[in-house]
Amino acid sequence: MSLYENTQKLIARAGATMNLSPEMRLIMNEPERVLTVNFHIHRDNGKLEMFRGFRVQHNTLRGPAKGGVRFHPQVDMEEVKALAGWMSIKCAVVDIPYGGGKGGIEVDSTQLSECELEQLTREFTRAIAPIIGPRRDVPAPDVRTNGQIMNWIADEYHKIHPNEDDYLAVVTGKTLDNGGSLGRDSATAAGGVHVLEAFLATKNEKVAGMRIAIQGFGNAGAWMAKILAGKGAKIVAVSDSRGGVYNANGLDITAVEKIKDEKGSVTAAVGEQISNEQLLASECDILILAALENQLTVKNVDSVRAKIVAELANGPTTPEAHELLEKQGTTVLPDVLTNAGGVTVSFYEWEQNLRGEKWSEADVAAKLEKSQKTAFADVANTAAEFKTDLRNGSYILALRRIEQAFAEKHSAAESCSDSV
Ligand code: NAD
Repeated sequence: MSLYENTQKLIARAGATMNLSPEMRLIMNEPERVLTVNFHIHRDNGKLEMFRGFRVQHNTLRGPAKGGVRFHPQVDMEEVKALAGWMSIKCAVVDIPYGGGKGGIEVDSTQLSECELEQLTREFTRAIAPIIGPRRDVPAPDVRTNGQIMNWIADEYHKIHPNEDDYLAVVTGKTLDNGGSLGRDSATAAGGVHVLEAFLATKNEKVAGMRIAIQGFGNAGAWMAKILAGKGAKIVAVSDSRGGVYNANGLDITAVEKIKDEKGSVTAAVGEQISNEQLLASECDILILAALENQLTVKNVDSVRAKIVAELANGPTTPEAHELLEKQGTTVLPDVLTNAGGVTVSFYEWEQNLRGEKWSEADVAAKLEKSQKTAFADVANTAAEFKTDLRNGSYILALRRIEQAFAEKHSAAESCSDSV
């Protein structure tokens, strides 16, 4: 089953629970626009190399498409379509005026020099330029892309559209000296912590003292580890693509971060060396998934011992594994809610760029907290209304909001033109 089929399945499941109209089911089942681009760069050794990239706009009924750009060898159209579909749902869950988009290049960018990476980014930008823009489609960082790469996208877009004054708003996640927002780096994790705390509050519990395992120690996972450790949680295990490390008494996260910077992996940190499969099965209260999709499947979900699984990554649990987790009494805090802090602060950056403003870090943090907590309450209420889990509740909430946008558009549109 392809990743996009998973997305369709989740939309269909919510559609069936809420009795979604057949029109909306059709609209949400396929992306509005998919673009494949093939382009080349000159490697430092003088050789020409071809690359394939993608940009997908899943649904734009609520606003411009919004979603990251991923540089990874496993990027393909089905993955990008799935990620774009999840963005349509996510932006509606947190009620920001965007639709869903996503992009990517099939590349092992770790093998490129800085100059090659810049060429790759600029050529990709030129290739997708006809469909992006501050009010059409606004890319952002994702796996293996960062602020510098976003700066190159904005700059290349500006070269193509020199008369667009608001060109910086074509992309978010830029560096602070180039229109980026304070608080963007930590936003995904901070938003995840707000959701986790809001959920624990419903059980009169707190993160302090909780034993937490985190898969993935990149932007999302490392920030999550730092924030939670700062709140008194015990981070018992972390991992990256090379493996993981475990300490039942809690890892020193500052030391783990230092080792990761110096040696390129958390595996060199002090503690028991473990594999990623062992991390997923480790003895803990909360398992945080912050790496890639399809990490918990029917094959390994039985081994999960945590009572809460928080999805900071997109699509880390297959729909079948999710069902099994809920059956065994584990609550899943779903990706489309838990990791929405990133796109929310991207929205704040976009607003600051369009209004020519600069917000303080405290303002951004306060707005984000309010937004994530409101979204959690909306999702929890919807899930309670339909007696369903939080993932299905998130999808139902989002589909209702998208359906509302469709109804507003439909009633405003003239059915036929009589001027011809
Ligand atoms: P990143 O590239 O900074 O980090 C990814 C981490 O996962 C790295 O530590 C990598 O080594 C690790 N990893 C890769 N394969 C692994 C494997 N098989 N097992 C264990 N670890 C593995 O990426 P990121 O920005 O932190 O994104 C991580 C996830 O969070 C992705 O699914 C992304 O779509 C999602 N996400 C990120 C943001 C954001 O703002 N960064 C926002 C929303 C969602």
